[in-house]
Amino acid sequence: MMNSPLLITSIMQFAKKNHATSEIVSVTKDDPLHRYSYAEAFARVGQLANALARLGVKQGDRIGTLAWNDHRHLELYYAVSCSSLICHTINPRLFESQIEYIINDAEDRWMFVDPQFVPLLEGLVDKIPGVQGFIVMTDEAHMPQTELLNLYCYETLIAGESESFDWPSLDENAACSLCYTSGTTGSPKGVMYSHRSTVLHSYAVALPDLFSLSVNDAVLPVVPMFHVNAWGMPYAVPMVGAKLVLPGPKMGDGAAIGDLIAGEGVTLAAGVPTVWMALLADLRESGKRLPSLKRVVIGGAACPTSIMSDFQQHGVMVHHAWGMTEISPVGTFNTLKPGMDRLDEKEQWKVRAKQGRAVFGIEMKIVDDENNELPWDGKAFGALKVRGPWVCAGYFGLEGYSDTHDEDGWLCTGDVATIDPEGYMQITDRTKDVIKSGGEWISSIELENTAMGHPAVAEAAVIGVSHPKWSERPLLVVVRNAEQELRREEMLSWFDGKVANWCRPDDVVFVDELPHTATGKLQKLALRKQFEDYVFPSTG
Ligand code: ADP
Repeated sequence: MMNSPLLITSIMQFAKKNHATSEIVSVTKDDPLHRYSYAEAFARVGQLANALARLGVKQGDRIGTLAWNDHRHLELYYAVSCSSLICHTINPRLFESQIEYIINDAEDRWMFVDPQFVPLLEGLVDKIPGVQGFIVMTDEAHMPQTELLNLYCYETLIAGESESFDWPSLDENAACSLCYTSGTTGSPKGVMYSHRSTVLHSYAVALPDLFSLSVNDAVLPVVPMFHVNAWGMPYAVPMVGAKLVLPGPKMGDGAAIGDLIAGEGVTLAAGVPTVWMALLADLRESGKRLPSLKRVVIGGAACPTSIMSDFQQHGVMVHHAWGMTEISPVGTFNTLKPGMDRLDEKEQWKVRAKQGRAVFGIEMKIVDDENNELPWDGKAFGALKVRGPWVCAGYFGLEGYSDTHDEDGWLCTGDVATIDPEGYMQITDRTKDVIKSGGEWISSIELENTAMGHPAVAEAAVIGVSHPKWSERPLLVVVRNAEQELRREEMLSWFDGKVANWCRPDDVVFVDELPHTATGKLQKLALRKQFEDYVFPSTG
């Protein structure tokens, strides 16, 4: 057999040739509904690759993006990766100091930025000396006023460039993109994807028991393109030639998402639980229906069965999925096996609430504290480990780092799970000390350190507590210094200006002592158990 390398370039060339007329529709700041064909998109990808070369980039250079989901971001995905550069997507919602750290750690050479994130970069520009210049992703008419130097307007930069580009023949193991995760403890760590891992992941995602992608679909990723490559959809969708609908900055706007689904005939959408609550609330109020929508993939946080049943009222099937930045991200996916549709309703919901079965390509196991593999009996729970061709073997720039991989090369996910005899995995807890709010990580350690800075705090712990809208929100648990007074309001306002607003704890509880292990480490699992029935005052 021929040894053709698995390259993103091949996805682009295939889509361009076989699906030239398929559509890409985007909401952008400068155009409420931008629409063009794959042929037009990939012609502009060629122009952008030429423009990048003119900027003097070198093979392997990291090109940073701070952008929502739209056609320009998609053009970057392809132009950057296929011309031997690395597309480094950055989450603009992170705290400024984290963005600064990430840009410097990745050694980004150029930054492509949506107009609304220009002020963010203005505040950082003195602290990111490696960045040679900035490209604002808009046209001349919508260029913001800014003092940033070496500034280009995206449309002007690519205008006049040739549409043809001599795409290099790359090694399939060459890096194509980079995404940082703060899903474990410590500083954010870079996960570097390769062309090969991305193509294999795209094949897997497209399978019938996963996203089940077809040329007849219209796909709406409501998961940001700065978060694990929007779960791989910008690659998997062109692979089958389906229509791609990109919601731009409208992600959290339920009514806008509903209109986009109805207007563009979206058949499949994907995102974290929080975004669907806004859509479902809007549908309840407006009485609107979404006749085209058939399937919604929900992952990134546990999907409440109420969301699944609400969607069912609209004739939409929800599939629960589990993944991580480290695994590209899809690891397990929930579809029913034969006969399960005949289970009574309660039993069916039990299965559908699980995070799903492993996808071929992902090996999965649960182990006890001594690394003994536990049975798939649906009862035994242990640390979840995975390995496979789209699982990261390590982190960017951290050779020798071993906190997340065991000696046999398995990735320790930081999740605790059961696996039933049919292979359905269910997350029961998390060993990593982070909180996932609306699909984004909040570092409990950062909040604990901030709390400990208060003179009246003897010890502090922050845990994620379930929240009806955000999946989880941070709860601060504090032991006060015996001789000092400290009230709730004072403690909570202590975080003002010290951490990003959306990361602040929602509440504080004062206790006499915190649970510790024999070696004096805080026992987060025990603490989470202690507060599992806790209800935030704002939601109770
Ligand atoms: P993503 O949000 O794209 O899945 P991250 O790397 O940000 O990727 O987060 C991965 C972590 O999110 C998992 O290790 C797990 O703790 C949590 N997670 C992801 N999907 C689910 C899910 N369906 N149910 C519960 N937790 C999940």
